[in-house]
Amino acid sequence: MAAVSALDAQRFGYLKPADVARLAEAFRFSEAAHAGQTRQSGDPFISHPLAVAGILADWHLDGQTLVAALLHDVIEDTSVTQTEIAETFGKPVAELVDGVSKLDKIEFQSAEDAQAENFRKMLLAMARDVRVILIKLADRLHNMRTLGAVPPAKRRRIARETMEIYAPIANRLGLNALYHELQECAFSHLHPLRYRVLAKAIKSARGNRREVIGRTLQAIRAKLAEAGIAASVSGREKHVYSTYKKMLEKHLSFSEVHDIYGCRVIVRDVPACYLALGALHALYKPVPGKFKDYIAIRKANAYQSLHTTLIGPLGLPIEVQIRTEAMHRIAESGVASHWMYKDDAESLTELQKKTHQWLQSLLDIQSQTGDSHEFLEHVKVDLFPDEVYVFTPRGKIMSLPRGSSAVDFAYAVHTDIGDRCVAAKVNGELVPLRGELRNGDRVEIITASHAKPNPAWLQFVRTGKARAHIRHFLKTMQYEESAALGERLLEQALKGLGTTLAAIDEASWERVVRDTVARSRQELLADVGLGKQLPAVIARRLLRYAEAPGEEAKTASKSGSIVIRGTEGVAVQLATCCRPIPGDAIVGSMKKGLGLVVHAADCRQIVRSRRNEPGQWIDVEWDPNPARMFLAAIKVTVANQRGVLAKVASEIAEAGSNIDSISMDDDRALYATMLFVLEVANRRHLARVMRALRRLPDVKKLARARE
Ligand code: MN
Repeated sequence: MAAVSALDAQRFGYLKPADVARLAEAFRFSEAAHAGQTRQSGDPFISHPLAVAGILADWHLDGQTLVAALLHDVIEDTSVTQTEIAETFGKPVAELVDGVSKLDKIEFQSAEDAQAENFRKMLLAMARDVRVILIKLADRLHNMRTLGAVPPAKRRRIARETMEIYAPIANRLGLNALYHELQECAFSHLHPLRYRVLAKAIKSARGNRREVIGRTLQAIRAKLAEAGIAASVSGREKHVYSTYKKMLEKHLSFSEVHDIYGCRVIVRDVPACYLALGALHALYKPVPGKFKDYIAIRKANAYQSLHTTLIGPLGLPIEVQIRTEAMHRIAESGVASHWMYKDDAESLTELQKKTHQWLQSLLDIQSQTGDSHEFLEHVKVDLFPDEVYVFTPRGKIMSLPRGSSAVDFAYAVHTDIGDRCVAAKVNGELVPLRGELRNGDRVEIITASHAKPNPAWLQFVRTGKARAHIRHFLKTMQYEESAALGERLLEQALKGLGTTLAAIDEASWERVVRDTVARSRQELLADVGLGKQLPAVIARRLLRYAEAPGEEAKTASKSGSIVIRGTEGVAVQLATCCRPIPGDAIVGSMKKGLGLVVHAADCRQIVRSRRNEPGQWIDVEWDPNPARMFLAAIKVTVANQRGVLAKVASEIAEAGSNIDSISMDDDRALYATMLFVLEVANRRHLARVMRALRRLPDVKKLARARE
């Protein structure tokens, strides 16, 4: 059997002799069929099916699968038919080869239509017999390992397809080692330079810390031995792609990502996992909130382990995975471990059950929808657990990172919609913009033409697109609004000197701008608005250059106040300590970089500053017809009864006010104190709301909250 020598005897040694003979036969058959064909690398074509069968043999797959692997390209690339294969090797093998050939015909296009349809076919093939997909994955792995010989354009397409389709499938099937190898390979071809730079950085970082890591592993081993727990402890290699992804997604630098060291502890049984966890928490301090029990609650792909993060020597964070040998096999080989370790009955039946259920659910979805897009979107939820899929009102599907809000959605639809969004409806109900979107939500964004992005959004948006646009908008807006405010402040200061802005000539402006660091008149005005330049100082300089006609009249007229309309945007801020509303007496102060901050004149926070630095404070007054609503806070003490919050809230709505936020004091037995932040037009409106609330019998105490 000359062919068997080509089939590495050791690699296939786990098979029964009859299977080995079949394999030898299949090898000769395939070699003859592919005779004269070569791969792009120049190797004889047979080297490829042989390598694929070898990979599958490493997973200990059955004889049929290996025979099919040797024959997987003959229908596609030679004149051999499915019938011939069935006659020679039996129907199951012929069906496997046919399944793989059908998948081979799929060219994953960048066009979404084609991709959805292809993906559907692929998963359905897998649902019928998971061995088809295992052959396909082994085929892809060998192609990725030898991708360097392929022309660059094709190389990129195959690498992208691997990243987007095959790696996630490997992950879903729990083939962890395969999943990482596919990702690493694909990444190295998609971004060769980034791959090289990061790989080098990872290697040298590892070298630098070899000593402290060695000591840490030693300490862990000693601690476990001392506790009488038999364990094997090893360090974990960091993958280049997962490092890259973490940097990208969490906006971290290389050192922030890489300063975390990974370590794995494998013990005999489940109780030992928890004992080991206890021992390690006694050795090094655990990071709160990082402990995860995937033993009690296993992942969808049957993964089980305890995860914890410890603070090691020199503050080195150590991510520890603790698991049993059986869990480890599943973690590495997933669904393939069924063939690899047939003896390990209990956990594998669970895994098989899970996989079977998942595949079955694919068939169900298929029979329900028939639409390949919809199918794809359902399946993606499983394959890409880090994303959520939501619908636009027209039924278009958008994918967003998990944790995304309606604002992320709005920006994903269009920048203008993001910039102008004021509210969102999810599945027909109004929700706060910051609320987290969930799979399948139908999201509708309500926009207003005058609306602007809110700086507070930056605290909860997840997508880079939303973040970038909000930042950009705020920057330009702040500049424009600050300049407008600066102009008004300067006008006020000039009035105090007996002149007006209009009276200042161009030449004086130019000279004053040149005296400062500002690059233009607009920028100087913005600096004044932002409190970086004092209006009185700039006004004097302007006058000096203009040889002001009204210099001697500077004490004659009292300066007019700055009028607050509420539409100044970020240049004017209403202090949140006292939340002034129209009707309140107000004062303003310039805060460097913040612009004008307006307080209620009786605000307790500013008493000392007004006494000690009176020059800081500027006269301000409300515009008689402000163009928006303002936030005021009230404190309500109510009898602590069921439904009381609803009553208060509906009374507030009845009085024409919106509730911006509610917080509760402690939950004492008889009374509860609630803090409401409300939108009101002015003091009169607030008084109306408060009168309405006082009429409620449950309301025991009510006051405007200021602190
Ligand atoms: Mn192939």
